[in-house]
Amino acid sequence: MNASVIDLRSDTVTVPCAGMRHAMAEAEVGDDVYAEDPTANRLQDRMAEMAGHEAGLFFPSGTQSNLAALLSHCRRGEEYIVGQDAHTYKYEGGGAAVLGSIQPQPLEFAQDGTIPLDRVRAAIKEDDFHFAVTRLLALENTTGGRIVPQGYIDEARALTREHDLRFHLDGARVFNAAVGQCLDLADITAKFDSVSICLSKGLGAPAGSVLVGSRELIDRARRWRKMVGGGMRQVGVLAAACEYALDHNVDRLADDHALAAGLAERLLDIDGLRVEGDAARTNMVFLTCARGDDGNFRQWCFERGLRFGGRNPVRLVTHKDVDEAQMDSAAALIRDYFAQS
Ligand SMILES: *Cc1c(COP(=O)(O)O)cnc(C)c1O
Repeated sequence: MNASVIDLRSDTVTVPCAGMRHAMAEAEVGDDVYAEDPTANRLQDRMAEMAGHEAGLFFPSGTQSNLAALLSHCRRGEEYIVGQDAHTYKYEGGGAAVLGSIQPQPLEFAQDGTIPLDRVRAAIKEDDFHFAVTRLLALENTTGGRIVPQGYIDEARALTREHDLRFHLDGARVFNAAVGQCLDLADITAKFDSVSICLSKGLGAPAGSVLVGSRELIDRARRWRKMVGGGMRQVGVLAAACEYALDHNVDRLADDHALAAGLAERLLDIDGLRVEGDAARTNMVFLTCARGDDGNFRQWCFERGLRFGGRNPVRLVTHKDVDEAQMDSAAALIRDYFAQS
């Protein structure tokens, strides 16, 4: 990363440190399509164990891991209930519909990032040949940086058991949710039938997600992974980076949360700017220009070396490759913008 640039677009911009690269170089590898890569096998077992599930499967991306999960739970003509702004609906190219003939039933999120359960209940279709068969409820945690309350997950799970629905979590940043609540990963993930977990976000691996679930589900997912081109060979070089991330970069997510909290605090008193919720959400800060959509704000900051994404709100994401001094600089630059505009 260019040292003078402060890149807060996403926690995916992190680069492997020397220790991680060393672990990758030293990785013991084999052909993973034959399930003979010892490092990938060890990572999958470890993630399954940590998450409270029977089995795990390594994927090149979270998008493919979510897709394989949806395809493994739902058949053609069935549907999944999902948040209107959820990654598994909005940001995966419509993959479940395009590749799986699975119909999404999107529902608006409430302010806190939950899908109100009365709305979920109302969307579950009766057994009637006019309707798609409702098969699955998909949640996301964290969602827009928000931690989904444990009590809500319990109630959602009870609803899925009552209606014989499968229960999937897009846990791209579920480690942020665990660390943010001082919980073990399994306290969250064991409540679901399947969970997709990214190692390539705040955990800092260059690529890789792991899907966890029952052995039967993972066997189905392996077939879909092969079909969509995710069967890789000496994948241990990536799995080693993921193991390194689990060893070194989980607890330190709390540092990312602290950096984001500090950044939000520095921005609270700026005229013309609103910090959503008046605080950071795990490692994210969302900012709204009070006088309405301001397309210049992001560009002005970009030209001065501060990068972030979105538009009213814009999103600033902290990660392991930024520090406190950069938060100071970022806040000062944003303050300058609103002072002169
Ligand atoms: C990043 C992300 C994914 C997966 O993205 P990939 O870039 O395909 O790894 C899934 N869900 C959420 C909420 C994400 O933020």
